[in-house]
Amino acid sequence: MTRDIIDVHAHCFTSRRAAPAVSCGLDKLRGEGLRHMAVLGMVNTHLDSETIWNLTPRAVENRGDPLLHEADDLLELARLTGPVILPFVDTRHMWGDVATLLLGYIGRGFRGLKGIYLADNENDIGVGNVPDTFGITLEQYQRREWEIFAFAEAHDLPLLYHMDARRYGDVMRAMLDDFPRVRVNFPHFGIGRSAFRNFLDRYPNVYTDLAGMLPHIRRTPDSYRDFILHYPDRVCFGTDTLLYAPEAALDYIRMVRELKLPEEIEARLFSGNPASYLGRALGAPAPA
Ligand SMILES: [Zn+2]
Repeated sequence: MTRDIIDVHAHCFTSRRAAPAVSCGLDKLRGEGLRHMAVLGMVNTHLDSETIWNLTPRAVENRGDPLLHEADDLLELARLTGPVILPFVDTRHMWGDVATLLLGYIGRGFRGLKGIYLADNENDIGVGNVPDTFGITLEQYQRREWEIFAFAEAHDLPLLYHMDARRYGDVMRAMLDDFPRVRVNFPHFGIGRSAFRNFLDRYPNVYTDLAGMLPHIRRTPDSYRDFILHYPDRVCFGTDTLLYAPEAALDYIRMVRELKLPEEIEARLFSGNPASYLGRALGAPAPA
């Protein structure tokens, strides 16, 4: 049984005040084999406490910074809780020169990047869109997203990018053609497995994760098992856990074990694939 587990997809939504509870939850997960958890923290220097919820589902219970500027708390939680948390910067609300801002965040200890493609109101998480929220054009928004991909590729950083392969397949293809070396995880099986297959078949640096998919996988385990077996080196373990209740990830560990994958495939899913995707992000933080 795999004793090394890396969760590539968790969220912050809490503050440094919760450090003792976060530590306790992470200890339980460590007992089950968790070694690392990539935690996505948002940055917001521009939007007010109302507008900020244009781009984040309101159903999420936020126990952290009311403006969802989570960067400082997340870095502090990572420092206080030992080597488990790998902080990723969530760029959805980022405003300003992309390269300058990201260099600053990486210099402070962030290990990877998170984005989400919100070009219009037809996105799969039912939130608003970035162009309207910031009063910019679609072209300006796309330029920002291109700069995020360019930065990830140039700095050898893992990029977790939420994007619906069914609706935005053309844009996804254009991004991957422009940045063939970027290691990108399009989570949740690219939202639609049949559309997403084409990307896994064509682009060797594309990964996915099973975060947030637990009810679906439990409903039709065989079809997900087949998918994982068909792409044994692409699917990563992920949970969508919120950091104030990290032990919720235990259910995901249990669910994967219930799939009864061949031992070697289970090990790839739990740690081999996450390690290939994360690359240097698993090592020491970049010098400031
Ligand atoms: Zn997520």
